[in-house]
Amino acid sequence: MRINDYIIKERLPFFFCAGCGHGISIKMLTETFDELNIPKNNIVTVTGIGCYGKADDYIDTNTMHTVHGRALAYATGVKVANPELTVVAMMGDGDSAAIGGNHLIHAARRNVGITAIVSNNMNYGMTGGQYSPTTPYLSITATSPYGFPERPLDLCKLVIASGGTFVARTTVFHTAQLKKYIKMALQHKGFSFIEILSPCPTQYGKNNKLSSAPKLVKYLKEITSPVSKAKETGKIPIGILKETNDVLEYNEAYMQIVNKIKEKK
Ligand code: SF4
Repeated sequence: MRINDYIIKERLPFFFCAGCGHGISIKMLTETFDELNIPKNNIVTVTGIGCYGKADDYIDTNTMHTVHGRALAYATGVKVANPELTVVAMMGDGDSAAIGGNHLIHAARRNVGITAIVSNNMNYGMTGGQYSPTTPYLSITATSPYGFPERPLDLCKLVIASGGTFVARTTVFHTAQLKKYIKMALQHKGFSFIEILSPCPTQYGKNNKLSSAPKLVKYLKEITSPVSKAKETGKIPIGILKETNDVLEYNEAYMQIVNKIKEKK
């Protein structure tokens, strides 16, 4: 495996369990930085808490390891302070959909030009496999041993409804598609959001008779289908779910107001 220059090689191997999907998305993200030739100093990678929150340990850009659920708040601050930077917030499902859910709504609504990547493994892996807002209905978790009675939150629908201007979903099985979407998201002007369905064989997999990583990746492949066929299959749609450039990015909208005030003076 070629290790790109945006990975801190001395820190390898990843701390993640064997078969965890987080390493794949870190690899795809850093390869995309490399392919787009973005100077390391122009990138700020912001993480929250949880297994995916360890991502900043391995990424050789400016990084911020923040508090649970607040990665987007920090990322927004960085982008507003310096709109020239490429800012990426990396979050798990607990981080983005539970404690950070409100920040997700408002970052999307503001159309602030950051890329939010959610590695959704459908449970709280690091703390023992408790259910999260994206846990599938009737799944077995540490806190729902007889089946999870709630319906999962569709993060992409939430971001679309909140005003996000680039929204895509894929899985770690679809690596080429994942890299393509990361590239599009990084080049998008407003708020871009990618949900990656990712295996957690140690917790979610073990609790749901999918403990081998290949079984779990196959499961993710089977429960998804291209967005064009999702209605007919009833599966989770993967693909680009929204893309528009019709809305001003937050900093641009802000500067329009600033310039109007300047003109009046
Ligand atoms: Fe990955 Fe799950 Fe292990 Fe965390 S507990 S590193 S999410 S496999």
